[in-house]
Amino acid sequence: MRSKSKVTLGVAAFAVLALTACGGPGGATSTGEPEESGDAGNGAATGEHPYGLEVVESPEFEEGTSMAEFAEAGSITIGTKFDQPLFGLVGPDGNPEGFDVAVGSLIAAELGIPFENIEWEETVSANRETFIENGNVDLVVATYTINDARKEVVDFAGPYYLAGQALMVQSGNPEGITGPEDVEGQAVCSVEGSTPAAHIVEEYGATLQATDAYSNCLDPLRNGQVVAVTTDNVILAGFVDQNPGEFELVAEGETFTEEPYGIGLAKGDDELRAFINDTLEAATADGRMAALWEQTAGAVLPTPEFPAPDRY
Ligand code: GLU
Repeated sequence: MRSKSKVTLGVAAFAVLALTACGGPGGATSTGEPEESGDAGNGAATGEHPYGLEVVESPEFEEGTSMAEFAEAGSITIGTKFDQPLFGLVGPDGNPEGFDVAVGSLIAAELGIPFENIEWEETVSANRETFIENGNVDLVVATYTINDARKEVVDFAGPYYLAGQALMVQSGNPEGITGPEDVEGQAVCSVEGSTPAAHIVEEYGATLQATDAYSNCLDPLRNGQVVAVTTDNVILAGFVDQNPGEFELVAEGETFTEEPYGIGLAKGDDELRAFINDTLEAATADGRMAALWEQTAGAVLPTPEFPAPDRY
């Protein structure tokens, strides 16, 4: 709702979702009727929302809260990645899709905001805090690790997923890299402002080739300018899946950090943080989180146990 560059979404081209049992995309409001019995709880599959979510009709919130503002405006601006398969990837029609997009649309749905009224703003790793601080976005759902340094400037709801840092190399692993110890003094590609970029330099002495988005690391890996790409295991798994035969994860994706994914929001908005944590908790309990996963990242990755929110 605060964005200047508005990307209002039509929902015509969700190829992944066409494979699910969600029915046709595009309705502005929910009927509240589950499409079939045995589906995710709480009326999750309505046949109208592209992720099968029920959009709460006229939700009530205490006056003066951000939730009341969003509900009144009927829109929200969410920052996400645009180049990460499985989590946030823009299709040819300009709409992002993936698990982060689904989680963002879950929160919107609980605020009474239908999918097509969400404005998606691309947030690369380095501009997430700034975009929240400056009000370019209301929320960031973007493979965003919760940590103390970031908590100095923004707040986090969640975590809603636990990832970990890994390494991706050319298929066949020509350099024989077995773990992060092997990249000391070698060129490794990662993204500015990300936790894995800092870690591979500080802990393992790699020479960083930094870029602004992970997809820019693929060509340098293909042509041997770098020996590896490093970031979270699940982001790398998306690139391996998207480029068959080209890349593989070192040690089958073994991780060497913990990257708990949170939803970034303005520092000090404790009511909004509590509301999002309540939403995540309820959606985990009634199966909506699992259903969202299965429609997105679940195409490649096993359904996880979703973590309990950290209500700090
Ligand atoms: N989760 C890590 C981070 O927040 C890496 C992934 C990313 O850059 O989005 O820095």
